[in-house]
Amino acid sequence: MKTALVTGISGQDGAYLSQLLLEKGYHVVGLMRRSSNAEKSVERLHWLGLGGEVELTDGDLTDLSSLIRVLAKVKPDEVYNLGAQSFVALSWQQPILTGEVTGMGAFNMLEAIRLLELKPHFYQASSSEMFGMVQAKLQNESTPFYPRSPYAVSKLAAHWITVNYRESFAMHASSGILFNHESPLRGIEFVTRKITDGVARIKLGLSTRLELGNLEAARDWGHARDYVKAMWLMTQQETPEDYVVATGRSATIREFCELAFSHAGLNYQDHVRVNPAFFRPAEVDCLKGDASKAREKLGWVPEITLEELAAEMVEADLRRLAQK
Ligand code: GDP
Repeated sequence: MKTALVTGISGQDGAYLSQLLLEKGYHVVGLMRRSSNAEKSVERLHWLGLGGEVELTDGDLTDLSSLIRVLAKVKPDEVYNLGAQSFVALSWQQPILTGEVTGMGAFNMLEAIRLLELKPHFYQASSSEMFGMVQAKLQNESTPFYPRSPYAVSKLAAHWITVNYRESFAMHASSGILFNHESPLRGIEFVTRKITDGVARIKLGLSTRLELGNLEAARDWGHARDYVKAMWLMTQQETPEDYVVATGRSATIREFCELAFSHAGLNYQDHVRVNPAFFRPAEVDCLKGDASKAREKLGWVPEITLEELAAEMVEADLRRLAQK
């Protein structure tokens, strides 16, 4: 039985990746930051019915000694570094923390692996935000990066240290440049979930309007359940490499609003208001990924469409609110 260590176990991807690995017969160990609200930290695992199936261990990406202790105990076959301060807007409020967790966290994990002379296959969760002010209409592995937020700068440092440790120490380290991926487990601070939660509130009569920022920004949105498969495929390859993971379809926030509101029989124009308070100091206008390499080398293709994603998220939020 293989053992996988997953950082960011309390997040959306931590939950879906755990589900996938458990189905494949892995022993999954999740790194957990000490929190006064431990129940909240595992609510996504519970949502997928995985409570109790993942072994949780205390540790923090900013604390090298805790990583050394955990790695020495767990001796994982695979390490998935998903842990991060992952909300772009917050990264301007807490740039140093974002740098320490999202950036230095990867340095710490790679260094801990090296110091212990372990040989796990390592996956780094890189991000399409690294493309920022895009240097090509369609972004692939050779598109130059131009980060536009402290979050993206931190992710870029983590990406390059992954490449560097692979080249310097022959580590099996891969970086997955994943475009936005969403699901009912997405945090409420991200725009898709904010929208589907808003749709559900309006539909159930709990609210009448939804305030958003820039409606013209465009993202290449996939479903997290599809994207964690690509992570796993990367760690199974003989040679570690970097891969763009995307759908190749880009839609604006406005278009996502249309999809989500119309799924509930509503017109977004009756409810959505633009509030400049949600604009960002620097915006990433349009992301659209070219995942040909992942398709050709990993055999990975996204299976869930944007329409299906929006519908699933609205339905889940309607259920969630109705239960409350
Ligand atoms: P990101 O791509 O990782 O930053 O994911 P987000 O879901 O946080 O944001 C995606 C895009 O939605 C960005 O271009 C935001 O400027 C835009 N956006 C517009 N209104 C909102 C809002 O109310 N909340 C968030 N989070 N994003 C918004």
